[in-house]
Amino acid sequence: MHLDLATILTLHPLSLLVGAMCFLYVRFRSRRSRGLGKMAAAFLVLGMGSLLAATGAQGVVDYETWTFWSFLSGPASYALFWVGLINLTEERPAGRAWFVLVLPLGLTVWARISGFYLHNAERASVFLAVMGSFALASAWLVVRDRPGEFLQTRWGLGGALVCKAVIAFTTLAAIAYPGRLPVSPPTTFLVLILCQFAIAMFVLILVQERAERRLIALTETDSLTGIRNRHWMMDRLPRQAPKGSAYVIIDIDHFKQVNDRHGHLAGDLVLTSVAQAMGRLLGPDAILARMGGEEFGLFLPGAGKDEAQQIAEELRRSIGSQLILHEGTAIPVTMSAGVAVAPVAMSIAQLVARADEALYAAKRGGRDRVVLARFEAAAADDVTASGDAGPVTKPA
Ligand code: GH3
Ligand code: MG
Ligand code: MG
Repeated sequence: MHLDLATILTLHPLSLLVGAMCFLYVRFRSRRSRGLGKMAAAFLVLGMGSLLAATGAQGVVDYETWTFWSFLSGPASYALFWVGLINLTEERPAGRAWFVLVLPLGLTVWARISGFYLHNAERASVFLAVMGSFALASAWLVVRDRPGEFLQTRWGLGGALVCKAVIAFTTLAAIAYPGRLPVSPPTTFLVLILCQFAIAMFVLILVQERAERRLIALTETDSLTGIRNRHWMMDRLPRQAPKGSAYVIIDIDHFKQVNDRHGHLAGDLVLTSVAQAMGRLLGPDAILARMGGEEFGLFLPGAGKDEAQQIAEELRRSIGSQLILHEGTAIPVTMSAGVAVAPVAMSIAQLVARADEALYAAKRGGRDRVVLARFEAAAADDVTASGDAGPVTKPA
């Protein structure tokens, strides 16, 4: 395949222009995405520089002007892109990162004083060294995972940036050792264009992936308490509860009275405090959710009777001993729990129904207690246990 350098040199600024347009489109459509405006500006600056170099090389602009400005467009663009990338990946203002602009300013002064930009090899070498260094640093910035936010697109974007760095350093080596490396300018530019397309594409996918994740998290989170909701729980529960798995239903006692006596806001505070206390006690991997109202569900895969009961009891004790203050008044809170542990593999619906019966027994038995559902000894795959549930633990 024959690659015509003149065509490639025209495509290069155009590809940057398309990238800039895409950034601007997303930037104005969703104002929450930080950094895209700076990235658009970075692509535009580089595109202008590239256009100037292409036209200048054909004699449209005088040599000193096009070499100077097209050279400067590189460092200026990479510094701007770096600042935008910090905004985007870390979702924070760039702060001291703006100091990176000192580099293009310093290079401007150096170029003016020494005039090195007038020599093709020197200009290209400095340009490529800056390009490669920024591309590597940007890749590191992107791949370094932000705590708590794993986005797969980071790897794609990081890869495209590394690819750009490889092109820069390979070309630099080809300049330093002429004739030793099989580097042809049209091929290099073509790969560079593809890298730039990939970078623009992955930046946009990253914005999309992050928005998607947040939307999913929102649909799975209970807006009042911040713990998971029923929707998430239904998604996590297996259809078949394996032998030994436990389902616990936790219900706050006389919660209606809390609302009646202290007001709805106090009720909300109690719900949030109880939910978060349980979340803290059980850890982030617990399959715990607010199922609705003042009822919570907890699934313990493979916990067994003793452990399930012990966990429910711990929750009961810890909730009961919590001091919840609303406008200076302490609100006493207790909870009841129904625990069902599958004696054999059974449908999750059956297990939940048994936990519900046990909860009902706990309420009947006086509340502030944990009740374990009893299953008939002969419980088999088709469980038709009696449903009798008796108090197992009573408040001390
Ligand atoms: P029991 O001990 O038998 O469980 O009695 P209870 O009062 O806790 O149960 P009941 O089902 O009679 O009342 C539950 C109350 O929970 C009624 C409802 O107004 C209240 N509730 C449900 N969701 C919320 C909420 O998001 N915030 C507040 N403040 N109250 C809520
Ligand atoms: Mg209740
Ligand atoms: Mg209830």
